[in-house]
Amino acid sequence: LLTPTYNVSLVILSLVVASFASFMALDLSQRVRAPDAGPAHAWLIGAALALGTGSWAMHFIGMLAFSLPVPLGYDPAYTLASWIVAVAVSWGALGLASRVKPGRAHLACGGVLLGGGLSAMHYIGMYAMQMMPAIVWDGAWVLASVVIAILAATGFVGMLNWLREKSGLELLGWQVVTALFMGFGVAGLHYTAMQAASFPLGSICRAAGSLTANGFGLIVGGAAMSLLGVSLFMSTLDARLRSRTAILTDSLRQANVELQRIAFLDSLTQLPNRILLSDRLSQAVSRSRREANSIALLFVDLDGFKQVNDTLGHQVGDRVLKEMASRLSQLVRASDTVARFGGDEFVVLVDVVEDRTGLAILARRIQAEVSAPLTIKGDAIALSASIGIAVFPDDAQDEKQLLDNADAAMYAAKAAGKNAHRFHDPAATVSTAGSMIDLRDLRGALERGEFELFYEPKMDRQGEILVGVEALIRWRHPRRGLVGPAEFIAIAERFGLILTIGRWVIDDACRQIRAWRDLGWRIPVAINLSLQQLRQPGLASQIEAGLLRHGVPASQLTLELTEASVMDSAEQSLLALMELHRIGVRIAVDDFGTGYSSLAYLRRFPIDELKIDRIFVHELERSEDARAIVTASINLAHSLNLNVIAEGVESLRQKEILGSMACDVLQGHLFSLPMRAGELTRNLLEQRFAMPTVLTEFQSRQMRG
Ligand code: C2E
Ligand code: MG
Ligand code: MG
Repeated sequence: LLTPTYNVSLVILSLVVASFASFMALDLSQRVRAPDAGPAHAWLIGAALALGTGSWAMHFIGMLAFSLPVPLGYDPAYTLASWIVAVAVSWGALGLASRVKPGRAHLACGGVLLGGGLSAMHYIGMYAMQMMPAIVWDGAWVLASVVIAILAATGFVGMLNWLREKSGLELLGWQVVTALFMGFGVAGLHYTAMQAASFPLGSICRAAGSLTANGFGLIVGGAAMSLLGVSLFMSTLDARLRSRTAILTDSLRQANVELQRIAFLDSLTQLPNRILLSDRLSQAVSRSRREANSIALLFVDLDGFKQVNDTLGHQVGDRVLKEMASRLSQLVRASDTVARFGGDEFVVLVDVVEDRTGLAILARRIQAEVSAPLTIKGDAIALSASIGIAVFPDDAQDEKQLLDNADAAMYAAKAAGKNAHRFHDPAATVSTAGSMIDLRDLRGALERGEFELFYEPKMDRQGEILVGVEALIRWRHPRRGLVGPAEFIAIAERFGLILTIGRWVIDDACRQIRAWRDLGWRIPVAINLSLQQLRQPGLASQIEAGLLRHGVPASQLTLELTEASVMDSAEQSLLALMELHRIGVRIAVDDFGTGYSSLAYLRRFPIDELKIDRIFVHELERSEDARAIVTASINLAHSLNLNVIAEGVESLRQKEILGSMACDVLQGHLFSLPMRAGELTRNLLEQRFAMPTVLTEFQSRQMRG
């Protein structure tokens, strides 16, 4: 037998290469399943190349460490075949282990495939030496080498799968251990298999001429090292890229948190806003139902805030609100919610209520906190709070009603002279402008037919002929008589009744237009709309339906919208106004001068008329400013091709001044008070108001026809 010798440093190098290759294979296959790592198959191929080439290189470096007393070499075809086998089985085994959820069978198959394949690679590599006579193999050692290879490979594949759950330093540590284990396994295969081989005396290597052992070993070693180097580089680059992705993901998450904050917190006070409040409220209500305990809402409105805002400016107003927000937050328990409901209104949600006395004490403490002295920029500011309290389930059946009732109770507190708190009282009344209105009465008024439209004439510039009328709603209250819109429209708006009332107004005005048409008069009628109606989807079709129902042309109906409502979210208003314009009704901006108009929007809105607010008309005789404002408004309107109406004309002098300013239409008590439709009809029949021929030539035609 020929006696082989081993070069120890090359043996060590072969071990290092095998371990390094295993390490890279582990590292690269981790990325196969990483969600943000790019194409999985690319990483799998990289890992297979690293493991296959590394194990293969290990074999040839091992062979380089081995020498026989005869020259050695390798047949290129078999050498290539052994490399292909090594890479292919690595690919198969790593693929199995990288499945989304590999079972034991997958892992075992992977292990056997890899171990068996690497053994095959080894023996093909040995065959590439083309020894003559053939190498004599010891069956036991051969078996041992294959068993070692399969055990090592199975362990490796199992570890690869197990490492999925690890991360950071722990992952790195186990990766090193696994790589060493596999490196030793591959080396174990090689050196055990070498033990199995004996070379009879006089053997020669027929491949000695093609690839000499020395030169080839160097090439293979170099190639393997550079391949592994490149994959290490790629892997590091990928890790850096991924940490950048991680940073991006993180900032995205932060942006989301910020968005949520903006969506659910009031930007000025950082308190929960209405949206968050309504969420907490519905949670609290369902919890209260489940646990059979009570919750309460305190509706807090700051008295005198509007004056502070108006006289000291918005900046001071904002600071006052912030201060009040922080005072309120400090008063309540952590489980309670203080929310900003809007403007100067706050809502406190008390989670578990012991008794009403406790709530009264809380309310009084809130009142005390709100009225505690406050100085901003040297101005001492004195506020107070009106608070309404409603308890669930005693006072309400659901969260909406709870909120409404707390709100109504707050109104009652305000009406009772402010700086007070009131519990919800089903018999209580709400009020504006000092009079008391029972919400339940108002809710039923429409059904009982208690509303009526009064009509106020609009006159030409000379005040002589009637050019149209404005419909003004009145409530014929069973006990109190006639109630004006100033007393109940705001409440109807606040408690969600305005849409149904508004619908009735539209219909009744159309009915009246029809009635007058039947008498042969084509009287233009203006109705007033609230902001909520303007924001109501389908308003245009509702009006169109009303016109159609009574067979009335759209051109005879004018919609009056206050300046404040059309300028509120002007872009939204623009869309709604376009819709209304499309159906052919006329649009007037009411109370002009009391809101804040954007000229740009005034230009873009499809409007037909400006109605100068009666405040300015009232001041015309006395105030230079009022005259200037009215002149400017009229000029502005005319330059925009709009008709101008002055409302609230009470004196002849006012009429003259307006006439000299070329105001087109006049309306006011000088000419007539608003009156019932029947009365106006009588007046017209008795010719107490003259009508222009355009409104009556229709009559003659109709009569002729
Ligand atoms: P507005 O649209 O500005 O209506 C003019 C108000 O001024 C009417 O009060 C009218 O009676 C009053 N007025 C008319 N001429 C004179 C005058 O010479 N001197 C004085 N001092 N006042 C005069 P009214 O009927 O109390 O209506 C108040 C407001 O209620 C209306 O102001 C309008 O904004 C609103 N409103 C009336 N009817 C309706 C309606 O059907 N729906 C809605 N949403 N609001 C309505
Ligand atoms: Mg009006
Ligand atoms: Mg007005």
